[in-house]
Amino acid sequence: RVLTAREIRKTFIDFFTVNHDHKFVRSSPVVPFCDPTVAFVNAGMNQFKSVFLGTAVPPYKRVVNSQKCVRVGGKHNDLSVVGEDGYHHTFFEMLGNWSFGDYFKREACEMALELLRGPYNIDPARLYVTYFAGDNLLGIPADMECFEIWRSLGFPAERILPFGCKDNFWEMGPTGPCGPCTEIHIDHRPQLGNVNERAKLVNAGRADLTELWNLVFIQYNRNADGGITQLPSKHVDTGMGFERLAALLQNKSSNYDTDIFTPLFDGIQSFSKAPAYAGSYPDATNNALLDTSYRILADHARMVTACLADGMLPDQNQKLRRVLRKALNISEHVFVHENLLSQLVPIVVETLGEAYPEMSAKQQAVIELIAHEQEVYKNLRESSSKAFAEVLTEFPNLDDIDLMECPGFVPAYREFQVQRSKFPNNTIPGEFLYKLTDTYGLTEQSFLKLAELENMNCDLERYRAEVSLAKLKAKDPQRTGGSGINNEAHRVLQKRIVEAQAHLTGQLAATDNS
Ligand code: ATP
Ligand code: MG
Ligand code: MG
Ligand code: MG
Repeated sequence: RVLTAREIRKTFIDFFTVNHDHKFVRSSPVVPFCDPTVAFVNAGMNQFKSVFLGTAVPPYKRVVNSQKCVRVGGKHNDLSVVGEDGYHHTFFEMLGNWSFGDYFKREACEMALELLRGPYNIDPARLYVTYFAGDNLLGIPADMECFEIWRSLGFPAERILPFGCKDNFWEMGPTGPCGPCTEIHIDHRPQLGNVNERAKLVNAGRADLTELWNLVFIQYNRNADGGITQLPSKHVDTGMGFERLAALLQNKSSNYDTDIFTPLFDGIQSFSKAPAYAGSYPDATNNALLDTSYRILADHARMVTACLADGMLPDQNQKLRRVLRKALNISEHVFVHENLLSQLVPIVVETLGEAYPEMSAKQQAVIELIAHEQEVYKNLRESSSKAFAEVLTEFPNLDDIDLMECPGFVPAYREFQVQRSKFPNNTIPGEFLYKLTDTYGLTEQSFLKLAELENMNCDLERYRAEVSLAKLKAKDPQRTGGSGINNEAHRVLQKRIVEAQAHLTGQLAATDNS
């Protein structure tokens, strides 16, 4: 019998609480109260960060949870691929178990394998595992202990693959707790043979191999001088993608074909009367545009509901606002049904409310917040389309700019008209491009379009230098009103700002000479 998503989640929690003495800890809100360095909670470990840093006492020695995660922006920005593949979402649930100074590598691997083979009944022949290959520069040895553990648990050596720092070494930041990890990957098409032979077959949407579970072994500390020392007490931090697990257990090659998403697709279809979801991806030969819109809208409806229910506001979080507006655009323009996004909220709550009761409690508030944002967005578009109509009579060649996507375009274009006679060599200078971004919110794509319309070039190199300088300055604690402690990080930053400024001045001089 195929397990439902609910049963899959419950099985995970029960396995660790009932069979292995873990305590269940609720998901934290997606608002990062526990970690101001990220825009959203993006992993189960966020709420335990201070335990790893040694500044908080662990709630229990063994913990299990399912965490609401959002990956939009920052180190984990999965937004750009959402809808294009079948296994990255902006909002997803991460199932995790933790050992705070209790069990370590062997038990962690044993338990993971026991759960996958036993209660989840997965054939281990469909699994690949990875281990840390070591890094000479950092002076960290390969994690052969991990390799040996997987060997002793019955994995053939050719399915235990070494990877470097990027995939298999986890660090919290430039200093602090860190360690090697081991990842469990699933083979969706084991009949295709060895992983190395068919790496090329892996494509978006229908990846044959996907990462399922990441087990991190926090055993080192990286010191301020860059050196690595052993931690006195070692921890385990794991995270498994719930939707990916559901796809595996329900014999689907895409997360979107599980009972987590199909009720949302049914809702979209019955509210909008659009043709039914057919499951095609951008790499398919047939037209996948509608199906991609189905996926993006369903994904974004979950993200928006989770964030709003946790008290995040579109006014205060531009990333949330962008995702929300994208969902409104798809509702209106692809499914031609203005209120589709709000109508999906009860379905999201139906699938997630049991695990996260705060979503059920806030359902009405979420619907009202979406209605409000819809109104704000509509007014904005009306006023900018009025302005745009005027601009069009003045400048008919702007006809094919999608102004709705970029309300700042009109004022930006007016300013461009005022300044253009000063631009040398038929090139829009980098400083001006930066102003278009900073003041009018133009993306690189929109100002390139502008330049194309006007048959001009863009000084992109200078523009990018301006952007990095602005980013550096924004990090400077003295500018942002912080305490301005003159620590090493601050000195490095200052130095980089000076360098970036010198680089810009150098470029200016070069331009002047030419
Ligand atoms: P990937 O390489 O597939 O992007 P990751 O290495 O970034 O995944 P981790 O940070 O290790 O992911 O997170 C632990 C687990 O969470 C992953 O093994 C995966 O199953 C799941 N996961 C990560 N990102 C997403 C996402 N955007 N949507 C759904 N599940 C995800
Ligand atoms: Mg990732
Ligand atoms: Mg990965
Ligand atoms: Mg990973």
